Amino acid sequence: MAKPVIAIVGRPNVGKSTIFNRIVGERISIVEDVAGVTRDRIYSASEWLTQQFNVIDTGGIELSDEPFMEQIRQQAEIAIEEADVIIFIVNGREGVTDADEAVAKILYRSNKPVVLAVNKVDNPEMRSEIYDFYALGFGEPYPISGSHGLGLGDLLDKAIASFPEKDEIEYEEGTIKFSLIGRPNVGKSSLINAMLGEERVIVSDIAGTTRDAIDTPHTFDDQEYVMIDTAGMRKKGKVYENTEKYSILRALRAIERSDVVLVVINAEEGIREQDKKIAGYAHEAGRGIIIVVNKWDTLDKDNKTMDKFTTDIREQFIFLDYAPIIFVSALTKQRLPKLFPIINDVYNSHSMRVQSSVLNEVITDAVAINPAPQDKGQRLRIYYATQVAIQPPTFVVFVNNPELMHFSYQRFLENRIRDVFTFEGTPIRLISRQRK
Ligand code: GDP
Ligand code: GDP
Repeated sequence: MAKPVIAIVGRPNVGKSTIFNRIVGERISIVEDVAGVTRDRIYSASEWLTQQFNVIDTGGIELSDEPFMEQIRQQAEIAIEEADVIIFIVNGREGVTDADEAVAKILYRSNKPVVLAVNKVDNPEMRSEIYDFYALGFGEPYPISGSHGLGLGDLLDKAIASFPEKDEIEYEEGTIKFSLIGRPNVGKSSLINAMLGEERVIVSDIAGTTRDAIDTPHTFDDQEYVMIDTAGMRKKGKVYENTEKYSILRALRAIERSDVVLVVINAEEGIREQDKKIAGYAHEAGRGIIIVVNKWDTLDKDNKTMDKFTTDIREQFIFLDYAPIIFVSALTKQRLPKLFPIINDVYNSHSMRVQSSVLNEVITDAVAINPAPQDKGQRLRIYYATQVAIQPPTFVVFVNNPELMHFSYQRFLENRIRDVFTFEGTPIRLISRQRK
């Protein structure tokens, strides 16, 4: 199920990225560092009072060579297009400016709920100054301070209360939703056409709703699939469509709705930084992942080429060690018939439930082979483990003290679980909880 999206807009220097970081909090993981996602990130998962959502900092989408007002205008348009709720930030120390009014005008024409936040209200005496901002026409302004972390709770309460009812299409259970993501020109459209047939019909164009994704149903060997695409790819022509960050944002939306994501790489060009970022998001979202190396026909190969490429991928995508790799050509159709069976396998791992009794045997054996190291005289004790969720498979282990579960030991346990149950192509999650 896709999470609702909050977009942050406002002219430069009002504090958008400060607020974004506050909302996102300490979510920077090791994986992201490896994937290079942390740097200038503009999109993240977050949650407030158990409500999960995604946040975009539209200010981070630079639109080079565009005049100031044009940039602001386009960022506001992106917010309208991508978000369920918009947080419009203004600067409480400067009053309403022309640029604020320009943003307001664009937002006003959209049907999206807008919450107005007056930032840099660092102390209570300044609260009286927010009333000027009623003039912008978005109702009650919310005074906040990004740098002091004030007022954000009320702001998020309001934003979350404004989420629309879900407009998601429901498919029959067991339908596999998948998408192809990757940089421009890696061959996504060619692969899609080769997989689904050139004359595929677009069945559900739910344009006009929040999620204007295009879904293409397809049946192969009695299994139902839905290929998730985004409408934006079809209505090219807007200036921002071609910016790197915007194309990542598009991929993210497809990732959100998919069970299995095919990360497409161009064999001719090798692995690029952006490939890693895109794959990093798919991993973070907990989707099943297959690495598809396309344009395999373009290489002069010998019997070592595939091994070398595989080693390279494993080194560069360390966090994706579980993802199967397939070398294909949309042009010659080499190995394309294998794609659907691999999608099935990954989907099955992604949805697999294991028995608690077997799980606990695996963990007991793992601990016997490799006991948890001591830390400050205390040793981690594992009492019991259970699977609490699928898609991705998520396990809770009850322990004496969760702080003793170090990253490397957690990896070791994850790998044992993965090996025994063959969770191919899916991330698995292991959460330590203190036994009460
Ligand atoms: P953006 O361009 O809208 O993303 O703005 P930034 O988040 O980069 O913030 C611009 C400047 O305003 C930075 O120097 C921040 O430290 C500062 N700033 C952000 N929030 C606050 C706040 O609540 N109070 C004060 N006094 N300064 C803030
Ligand atoms: P997209 O932007 O990722 O959707 O990429 P396209 O499917 O539009 O392909 C970009 C270009 O690569 C086109 O000129 C395709 O004909 C070409 N192409 C796609 N797949 C292959 C392939 O497997 N081998 C070769 N040689 N060219 C390919």
